[in-house]
Amino acid sequence: MKQLIFIGAPGSGKGTQSESLIKQNSYRHISTGDLLRKEIAEGSQLGKTVKEIMDKGNLVTDAIVLELLKKNCDLKNGKYIFDGYPRNFDQAKVLVQQFLANQDFLAIYFHIDTGVLVERLTNRRSCSGCGAIYNIKFSPPKTLNVCDRCGHTPLTHRSDDHVDVVTNRIDVFKKSIDPVIEYFKSLGRLETIDAAKSSDWVYQQILSKI
Ligand code: AMP
Repeated sequence: MKQLIFIGAPGSGKGTQSESLIKQNSYRHISTGDLLRKEIAEGSQLGKTVKEIMDKGNLVTDAIVLELLKKNCDLKNGKYIFDGYPRNFDQAKVLVQQFLANQDFLAIYFHIDTGVLVERLTNRRSCSGCGAIYNIKFSPPKTLNVCDRCGHTPLTHRSDDHVDVVTNRIDVFKKSIDPVIEYFKSLGRLETIDAAKSSDWVYQQILSKI
């Protein structure tokens, strides 16, 4: 198995696919967004520093995310899915040269027309108990606001999944991601997947590439 790097706009399905891979293929998931939200929830100094930036949908500094990665991943002892990292060219270089030197890795680009993402994101809810992700329009839980998997209630709506912030997050993604994609392509380590297709189809595609 390879170390995996998921690249894709917010709402392109990286989190959902990560969940499936963790359950069925013993991958570990490292989402810099989740790590940052955890810091905010715990009220740490770092959490206080990043909250305002994240609430606007902008990127936090490379140094902050790098520190979190160092603290939270142990590449010698596991296969990881990097979700939400790298977000720019400098982060991509650090990941490849510092973390993944001597590792087999593959970047998967979740390609999707960003026009459909606003609706996906504004309807997204997640379980703060187990992390399961729902879309209240397209894949709602069986009981309104209750997690199918662990029964936790209520499901939460991320503060940066509101429409004005979502638009900025998508713009930020579009402005910074091309050099990242080109970089992995130049290394011969990029696969592109049509993320507009069903999540089962996307999952099978990922399996066929790893
Ligand atoms: P995500 O959960 O990946 O959508 O990330 C939520 C927010 O966390 C982003 O809008 C950024 O503010 C911040 N963030 C997550 N990952 C990174 C990263 N690699 N570099 C900078 N900021 C990040």
